[in-house]
Amino acid sequence: MIRKTRLFTPGPTPLLPAAQFAMAAADIHHRTAEFRALYERVLGQLKTFVGTKNDVLLLASSGTGAMEAAVSNLTSPGDRVLVLTAGKFGERWEALAKAFGCAVDVVSAPYGETFAAEQIKAALKAETKAVFVQATESSTAVRHDVAGIAKLLKSAGSEALLVVDAITGLGTTKLDVDGWGVDVIIGGSQKAVMIPPGLAYLSLSDRAWKAAETSKNPRYYFDLRKERKNAQKGESSYTPAVALIAALGASLDWIAAQGGGDLAAGRDALVENAETCAAMTRAAVQALGLRLFGPGPYAAAATAVLPPEGVDSGVVVKELKSRFAAIVTNGQGDMKGKLFRIAHIGLFDYMDTIGILGALEQVAAVRLKLPGFAWGKAVAAAQQVYAERTGVQTAELVHA
Ligand SMILES: *Cc1c(COP(=O)(O)O)cnc(C)c1O
Repeated sequence: MIRKTRLFTPGPTPLLPAAQFAMAAADIHHRTAEFRALYERVLGQLKTFVGTKNDVLLLASSGTGAMEAAVSNLTSPGDRVLVLTAGKFGERWEALAKAFGCAVDVVSAPYGETFAAEQIKAALKAETKAVFVQATESSTAVRHDVAGIAKLLKSAGSEALLVVDAITGLGTTKLDVDGWGVDVIIGGSQKAVMIPPGLAYLSLSDRAWKAAETSKNPRYYFDLRKERKNAQKGESSYTPAVALIAALGASLDWIAAQGGGDLAAGRDALVENAETCAAMTRAAVQALGLRLFGPGPYAAAATAVLPPEGVDSGVVVKELKSRFAAIVTNGQGDMKGKLFRIAHIGLFDYMDTIGILGALEQVAAVRLKLPGFAWGKAVAAAQQVYAERTGVQTAELVHA
């Protein structure tokens, strides 16, 4: 049969056609009224998408650029910071904080798990200047409890800034940025907003801006003070990624349309969509006889699945690609060969989800010796979850 290439990866994610068209048409200079109108509109939309009253800044970089900007702008060499890590992206926080000379305390949880509140409480010091964490750890498909961590910092009377890498969290999990007291939140273009890689965005609370004013780190390209000053005039400090910004505007318009023209409602619908795709996938792989990686709490950004004992997860990745042109990801680093990940961030619908699970059954039938294998088990489990989550009365349909 012919094969259509489809990404099931936690970034880059499938592209939104409306955004692709907007990119192709974005033949404008950045020091013009036309661009300023676009930039101001998109920065305003991003505030709603992120869910904050604070300014959102856009950077021409991958997501890691905004992570680096958070570290370099909020800390000074020698500052004590706390990194919460349970995967490859948590480790990136640790490496970044060390690169900028912070005195780094680390709370870690095994891959596939999350932190205990007592661990965090015990590691928090009076002088802890910032706490760095992921909303969802894409390498293990685990969701961290950002609300709980924010609450814990408050109840401990900590002055530490809470910096959240929500690069795969935004658009896949509920985040009340201002309500919870998140000081910095970071997103990336190649995730839930369904456009190519190359843009990062972040917002800072008033407290975080104060820290940015007093940081002793040298800053140039990622000087957020300068970027904010320019953004308030509808400008970026350097040549912005004009085409990606046009794409982002189209994407945020599309997301708003999912909420009947209300962007916050559209974002919530996108989160609910990811949660449904993830719940369908979790039920399906377990019905097939596969196990999820770790005990959870599971993220809706992606689902991490263990291959059967004695099988390298690369076999599943390779078979899905060679038979069906479906691109899923292997484990990262030490997890390579031990798990595979199916993403649900952004533009995944019912058809995509049922399709990848049907394809997984095909692969299982020939390559995974699962006891009790029978056709349709995974797909049926996913269909049932879909029916339950979307309010279809299964029993009524069956017995009508
Ligand atoms: C994708 C991702 C990043 C950013 O990675 P880049 O390659 O720099 O865009 C950071 N954190 C998480 C959790 C991610 O999933």
